[in-house]
Amino acid sequence: MKHFTVYVENRDGPTPETFEKLEDTPILVDLEKLANQYRQKSTGTRKAFDSFLEFWESASCEELLEPKGLIGFIPTGRLIEGFIDTIHSGTGQNFQQFLGKSPRTALMAWTIGDTIEKKVTEFSREGNNLKALLIDVAASLLLNEMHLKLREIVRERAKSDFGLYPMLDHYPGGGRKGSELIPAVFDLTSASKALGITLNDQNIMNPRKSECSILLLGDEERELQNTPCIPCLGKRCLYYQLGGCHASDKVNEKVTS
Ligand code: SF4
Repeated sequence: MKHFTVYVENRDGPTPETFEKLEDTPILVDLEKLANQYRQKSTGTRKAFDSFLEFWESASCEELLEPKGLIGFIPTGRLIEGFIDTIHSGTGQNFQQFLGKSPRTALMAWTIGDTIEKKVTEFSREGNNLKALLIDVAASLLLNEMHLKLREIVRERAKSDFGLYPMLDHYPGGGRKGSELIPAVFDLTSASKALGITLNDQNIMNPRKSECSILLLGDEERELQNTPCIPCLGKRCLYYQLGGCHASDKVNEKVTS
C-alpha cells in the first residue's frame, strides 16, 4: 500500500479560489500479473524478482516514493483562450468536438518524485539490472493507479461542486504526440509549485516519473472516453499486459484525441 497526497484547486482566474490538500489517499499496486510472468522463469530471474518484491514492500522503498498529484478545475474557456492554436495542432477531432460541449475542465498532474529514480540508477550501476527494471515497471504501474484515483476524485468533485461529469480524458504527449499542450496543465494550475514538476524546452517533465492529463467535463453522465498513446503498441505493450494501460479498452481502436 502506498500513500498518495492529492491537492484540489478550483480556479476561475489566475489564482485559486479554493486550494485543498487531501492527505494519505491509499493506493494499491497489483503486482500479481508481473509475479506470474517472473515465477515461471529461471532460478536467477526468480531470485531477482524476489529481491525486487522485498525491496518494493519495504519501509525504505516507501520512504523513497513521494506520490503526489494535483487536480485543477478551470473554466474550459481559459484553456481555449490560452491554447487554441496548440489544441488545433496537437489534438484530433474527437477532443475538439468534446471541447465545444465542455463548460469546465479538470487539469491533472501527478508524480512519484525523483528519489526512486536515483535508486533505480544505483541498482543498475551495481549490476542489478533486472531489479532496477522491475522497480521502474512497478513505478509506472503506480503512476497508472494514481491516475485512476485522480479520475475518481474528479468524478466525485465535478458532480458535487459543479453538477458536471467526466467526458474525455486526454493524455497530451502520449507517444510524444501533442506534447505542446502539456504546458497548459502547468500554466493554468499550481501543479509546478505544489508537485515540484518542471518542464524542459521539449515539454518533458522532470521528475521523469510524472504524468499529466486534461479531462473535459460535460453536463451529461456518460461513459468516460480516453485515448491510447500514439502510436499504440496494442496488446504487445508491457503495460497493457501488466494491467497498467490508461486506455486498455481502446487499444484496438483507431481513436485520436
Ligand atoms: S497499450 Fe496502452 S499504454 Fe501501451 S501504448 Fe497502447 S495505450 Fe499506451
